[in-house]
Amino acid sequence: MTYRGRFAPSPTGLLHAGSLAAAVGSWLCARHAGGRWLVRMEDIDPPREAPGSAQAILAALPAFGLVADELVIYQSSRIAAYDAAFEQLRKADLIFPCWCSRSELTIAGGIHRDGRCIAPPDPHRAPAWRMRVPDKTVTFVDELQGPQSQPLREVVGDFVIRRVEGFYSYQLACVVDDAWQGITQVVRGNDLLDSTPRQIWLQHCLNLPTPRYLHLPLVLDSEGRKLSKSERSQEVDPSSPMASLRRALSFLGVMPDESAVHPSELLRRALDHFDPNQLTRCSDHHAA
Ligand code: GLU
Repeated sequence: MTYRGRFAPSPTGLLHAGSLAAAVGSWLCARHAGGRWLVRMEDIDPPREAPGSAQAILAALPAFGLVADELVIYQSSRIAAYDAAFEQLRKADLIFPCWCSRSELTIAGGIHRDGRCIAPPDPHRAPAWRMRVPDKTVTFVDELQGPQSQPLREVVGDFVIRRVEGFYSYQLACVVDDAWQGITQVVRGNDLLDSTPRQIWLQHCLNLPTPRYLHLPLVLDSEGRKLSKSERSQEVDPSSPMASLRRALSFLGVMPDESAVHPSELLRRALDHFDPNQLTRCSDHHAA
């Protein structure tokens, strides 16, 4: 099977050092495997979006030498596919409507574990929809972080797949699109490692294949915190891409080539030295 990888940013702000490292890491893995590299815009959460950031991210990627091999997919145009997956889960009785308020859930430690709504149904209010999560431990081997296991009900409980406002969750949309785009390996930041068991469970429920997973270390700020697009931390400047690109490469363990002048040349040379087996598991150095 031909390798297909992807970078899937949410338009919640501009690219920062962390998202650039994830983009470069997924690109290097795809190119190293002789495969294709796709870009998917995860724009299904309008309240969290920063206006203009989807266009800004898509304009920035080629400035860093990162050019997708296929047309960019916008999740906002894929609602019919999520509706179909939702119906499939509903017909199989794997989801249930939930009217629980935050305060009701707080009593249960913030996690819903009953497999049914504990609040009375309210015909005047739209419900959220949750997966009915069994007492099951999902295990998988992350290609960088090693063996993982998560007792699903214990840790995440009956997770939401469609919010009260009608928006589909990241978990559902991501799983439907990874399968639809034929992704064979997901390379992304370690902050999503704990989402992976939910995604594997959804793949199982929807009869979808499970790709391989590789979670990259997170780029941290000088105080050891994860960078966040919405906090505008460590934004990278596409008008002078070389320094940030070199930092991203060295973060990924590739010694940046000082003689390269253009981003695409730098990436090409980095590829000669890149070996996914040489990636390090945790971030022992911070973004400059
Ligand atoms: N859209 C997610 C984010 O920007 C990443 C999704 C993924 O790579 O699975 O954090």
